[in-house]
Amino acid sequence: MLDFSRSDEWILGEDEFDPKFFSKVETCFNLGNGYLGLRSSSEEQYVGEQRDLIVAGTYNFFAEGETIELPNAADVTNIEFKFNGDRLDLNQGEIIKYDRHINLKTGLLTRTITWKSKSGDEYDLNFERIVSLKRLHTIAFNISIVPKQKTHIEITTGINGRMSNLGCQHFTYGTPRFFDNKYMVYCPQTIQSNITFAIGAVHNFKLNDKPFEVGGNINIKRRYMFFNYSCDVEANDTFNMEKICNVYTDRDKDIEGIDLKDLQLHCLEGLKNDEATGFAKLYEESANEWKTTVWDRAPIEIDGPSKDLFAVRFAQYHLRLMAPAHDNRMNIGAKGITGEGYKGHVFWDSEIFLLPYYIFNMPEIAKSLEEYRYFILPSAHKKASENGFEGAQYPWETAWRDDGEVTSKYQGTDIVTGELIKIWTGIIEIHITADVAFGVWSYYKCTNDQEFMDNKGYEIIFDTAKFWVNRLELEKDGMYHINDVVGPDEYKEHVDDNSYTNYLAKWNIEKALEYAHLIKNEKKDIYKRLNKQLGLNKLIKRWEEAIPKIFLQVPNEKGILPQDDTYLTLKEIDLDKYKKQPFVGGIYKDYNQDQITKIQVSKQADVMVLFYLLEDKFDKSVKVNSFNYYEPHCLHDSSLSLCTHSMLAADIGKHEMAYDLFEKACLIDLDNNNPNSSYSGIHAASCGGIWQCAIQGFGGLRMLGGKLRISPQLPNKWNSLKYSLNWQGQLIKVEVTKDKLVLTKEKNDNPITLEVWEKEYKLEDTLTIEK
Ligand code: BGC
Repeated sequence: MLDFSRSDEWILGEDEFDPKFFSKVETCFNLGNGYLGLRSSSEEQYVGEQRDLIVAGTYNFFAEGETIELPNAADVTNIEFKFNGDRLDLNQGEIIKYDRHINLKTGLLTRTITWKSKSGDEYDLNFERIVSLKRLHTIAFNISIVPKQKTHIEITTGINGRMSNLGCQHFTYGTPRFFDNKYMVYCPQTIQSNITFAIGAVHNFKLNDKPFEVGGNINIKRRYMFFNYSCDVEANDTFNMEKICNVYTDRDKDIEGIDLKDLQLHCLEGLKNDEATGFAKLYEESANEWKTTVWDRAPIEIDGPSKDLFAVRFAQYHLRLMAPAHDNRMNIGAKGITGEGYKGHVFWDSEIFLLPYYIFNMPEIAKSLEEYRYFILPSAHKKASENGFEGAQYPWETAWRDDGEVTSKYQGTDIVTGELIKIWTGIIEIHITADVAFGVWSYYKCTNDQEFMDNKGYEIIFDTAKFWVNRLELEKDGMYHINDVVGPDEYKEHVDDNSYTNYLAKWNIEKALEYAHLIKNEKKDIYKRLNKQLGLNKLIKRWEEAIPKIFLQVPNEKGILPQDDTYLTLKEIDLDKYKKQPFVGGIYKDYNQDQITKIQVSKQADVMVLFYLLEDKFDKSVKVNSFNYYEPHCLHDSSLSLCTHSMLAADIGKHEMAYDLFEKACLIDLDNNNPNSSYSGIHAASCGGIWQCAIQGFGGLRMLGGKLRISPQLPNKWNSLKYSLNWQGQLIKVEVTKDKLVLTKEKNDNPITLEVWEKEYKLEDTLTIEK
């Protein structure tokens, strides 16, 4: 059972060995560095575990009927022990002491056990593991064993290539190679994308802190490279094993295309280097990297319930390990690299739920994510043209840059018809195209990165607006409509004029028009280039003609903004049962998708996301009325929902509700009763969402219409909140108490104009504003 109530706000622990929580712990304690993600399974194997080693960007297609996914690479975490003939198995014998925890501050995973075997022998065991944040290819283990009696130790350890993604084997047999009878390097290749992996391992031993030679035999079988080691130790000796592993692929940017032999040698060299450094130094280096690149850069302090600060740090920890900061050819999958869920695919989650964290804290990562969107423009052109449109229509789900649309075509079984369920999101959930443009604009406005905008950003905004103007349908009322879509609320399929989609599409076209005029006057070369490429002269006319005629829903007589053409007229059912269920998707047990589409029920925030993104377009009363209407109809069956509702509740002054929703959002992965995050991995967008609630909701931080706004509204339970943010290249420190806001930045020639609690201020160095 997860326990996050330990004395400081850095430790997520488990103090009981309970197989029920294996996969939950593996997910929440996951180790990684953006290059690789490693689920935190125990060394020894158990039924119910889910081992995964995932390398970002290494997508492979297994077979017809499947979709491209991130393959589960060979496992290095499995190490089996026998002590005096008894296999280390915590289901047997007696557990005298047990603790397993992840320290978010340092990224160190620790398991400490005192175990009595069936034969009555006793052992103190300590397991430490890191994935280095400093050396992207390095995984290291430090294991110590102190027997209470003379013991014969047997260890089986190595590299297991028999892994699969729920049965899909993505790799060839592979090339196993030993060097110096000590170093092992295993090189399998993905079967379709032909990416060669090199996974290496080496072991070293100590007895009572002195180097110790342990006899080992190579144990090589089908897709399996192991060593069997054995030795004898005395009672109370400290026996220690360091296992150092390395992972490379020939898709890595710095060695792309390297041949097999060189890849093996590259891995070997890395292995020797890490081995010489040793676990202690590798750990110290990595912990320091966590400190300087994460915690010192995005420090957050909350004077309030310690679980709140813990949850924010938990989110920040995961936000770092899911981010492929090293490679702009990649973005973030819906489960990061912590599991096989959503197959490593990239959704709108990236722009709307994750990007704000990076923009305000680590703008270089935000840039890299935006560059990915630029690189996949060809996929967006392909999708548009396949659908008979011009411009860039971003695929709903993406993987490697030229994979195109990768959304599954079918999934699950319809409880009414008994047939496979067709997945419409990849076909008609088109708002992602505007979301991408919104992400580009947000990045630009918050960072002022003109170079990105000149070379990539303008083009994305024009190209997406080109798609939208093509996609509009002129109807008899003389207005342009957007029909047959799925909006953010995926419980409504084939709807017309979804508010979120239409408002964002219009925003996208307006932004394109604004920038087209701007660069026509001020950046003639860029205009010339993009005019040639996209036909800007003609497009400007099209955009000007279309903008006033784009149909937008308006609030009804009760002041509620309709989600789409029909939502407010649909039948109502009692949703109480589903709202109370501790798991998601319960409604599918009673209704099929067609039926759900015809009921006033939402999976997730829809109109609320619109209010969050384009907040100045709507009156507060419309937000209040709509919130009061939609929230009771929303099952929050997507992890992208609670956070937006919490921010909106904070915006409209429903402070207790905002806090209540925030607390629930914090538990999406951490709740022991929520099985949802177990096998498939962490909810990446929800991690972004937890940060959004704390800093953008309670901390009041927004980029609004291109300007900075900081209007905090602390929940009752918080006395103060401290955070920092990057704004157009300057660092601002924010300290909020119940009645005061203090902003500090380094004094220079660039004062920052910002809005605080509806008034405009200029920040030169320090600004204190009383509420
Ligand atoms: C949600 C989508 C989201 C996807 C990936 C779905 O359940 O409805 O909005 O993009 O999960 O997180």
